[in-house]
Amino acid sequence: MKSQFEVYLRLKPSNNQSQNAMQYQLNHNKRLQVILPRHVKFGLVNNSRDNLEFNFTHIFDQKSTQEQVFSTVTIPVINSFLDGYNATIFAYGQTGSGKTYTMSGAETWQLRGVIPRALSYIFDEIDKRTKFEYKIYISFMEIYNENAYDLLEKRHLETPLEQWNKIALYEDDQNNIHLKNLSIHQCNNEQEGIDLLMMGNFIRQVSSTPMNQSSSRSHCIFTVTLEGCDTTSETCFLSKLHLVDLAGSERISKSQVEGNLLNEAKYINLSLTYLEQVIIALNERMKGANRQHIPYRNSLMTTLLKDSLGGNCKTVMISTISSENDNIEETLSTLRFSQRVGQLENEIRRNEKIDLEAVVKRLEQEKLILIRELEQYQRGGNVNSNNKKLQTQQQMLPMTNGIPLNQKEITEKVELYLNERITQLDIKSVEEAQICFEAMKDLYNTRMKEYVTELTFISEKLQKYDEILTRKKEQSSFLEQKENSSPEVEVYRRNESPQINFKKKPNQ
Ligand code: ADP
Ligand code: MG
Repeated sequence: MKSQFEVYLRLKPSNNQSQNAMQYQLNHNKRLQVILPRHVKFGLVNNSRDNLEFNFTHIFDQKSTQEQVFSTVTIPVINSFLDGYNATIFAYGQTGSGKTYTMSGAETWQLRGVIPRALSYIFDEIDKRTKFEYKIYISFMEIYNENAYDLLEKRHLETPLEQWNKIALYEDDQNNIHLKNLSIHQCNNEQEGIDLLMMGNFIRQVSSTPMNQSSSRSHCIFTVTLEGCDTTSETCFLSKLHLVDLAGSERISKSQVEGNLLNEAKYINLSLTYLEQVIIALNERMKGANRQHIPYRNSLMTTLLKDSLGGNCKTVMISTISSENDNIEETLSTLRFSQRVGQLENEIRRNEKIDLEAVVKRLEQEKLILIRELEQYQRGGNVNSNNKKLQTQQQMLPMTNGIPLNQKEITEKVELYLNERITQLDIKSVEEAQICFEAMKDLYNTRMKEYVTELTFISEKLQKYDEILTRKKEQSSFLEQKENSSPEVEVYRRNESPQINFKKKPNQ
């Protein structure tokens, strides 16, 4: 199924209404027309233009609320995540334009952002969907200077960033990326999820090295993994929802940085440049260019978000811009980037998988029944077969009335007799008795052969599934990582998180 990228725009409320405010017009909240200030107009190659136009799935103006953003952007995405599709929402924009405000929120519960609202919604919804059994896991990581770190590792509170374990990536033979040193936490309700979010944001703030004082220099990926199993069949699915708060998109030339900061800026700028390159390459491929290679591997962020950008994922971007002319160049760059992203589409499919353990259990039971029946048959006892393939429908044969039965009819009667569908065989002559014995011999041999074939088939299947299961268990797969210790979130509740400090949830 094709899924076009959706790109939303959010304008940050302007601090002052003076001449510094950006001049723009909104058309049905879908088209933004930016009236170019003089210095920009004459700085552009084509200086004949007074304005530029940009299209979006929807534009949130300066008055938009967190609730509006959530219900318009997030609910459809989360619904498809709950149905078993991968989904990503990422916020893109220059520092200070409202990415973190949009994704995580501000100080109060009222102003909470997409992530905490998504958690509430997810838990409310899975309570309603009773046909499935769900398990939810959360991980939270930060990418900083091309290194990724676990934000839910409580030891990081006591140690400086330099001593944190880096998250290691490795790829299996099916090109799936696995992560080492990233804890995954099973989460049973909304509050546990919010505690994890707060803990991650808190760790992000307190990592005390001067290098990491500004969260705007790192990318953050909050990932919710959903495992849903249909209680009535053996199918399960595993879907992932990435909620991404990217580093500020401002260009290096503008940031007046030096030393370590220059190094950081270089990395940040580079990874966003690589993000742009991936988007350009994907765009070219969509337009028919023969582009086999998409440069995901140039940066950690694009490697990690490979599926979100050009794979099996429903992807949505929220671009945030400031509404001031001082930032117009950055704003135009964000707007242009958004247009490119908006042209992309992904091919998505439901991540369904068969519950191998359940299948193996069922096959083992079937095999046991077959072995028992075979043994009974070999001992000469009648078998009241449970095996559908071997079962014959109960039916009445026409009465013989003394007329000799033909061979076919006798054979059918013998089969019914052996299956205890009829209690007696009406034999009128020696000739009929001979036909009966022959039919019994044939049926016995056929039945034995069928049992053996069926058993071989089931045994082979069992062996194959058993091997897959064992291999799966051996790999340090996602499902094993979930055994990681659950974090002690109590500690963080008492502390004040400088960025996110939700007041108690009011009764709503
Ligand atoms: P970014 O993460 O893009 O660097 P922030 O989300 O930290 O930017 O926003 C910078 C400041 O602006 C914060 O104080 C935030 O609360 C405020 N802010 C951002 N967007 C909005 C908005 N839509 N409404 C009100 N305040 C906002
Ligand atoms: Mg931020």
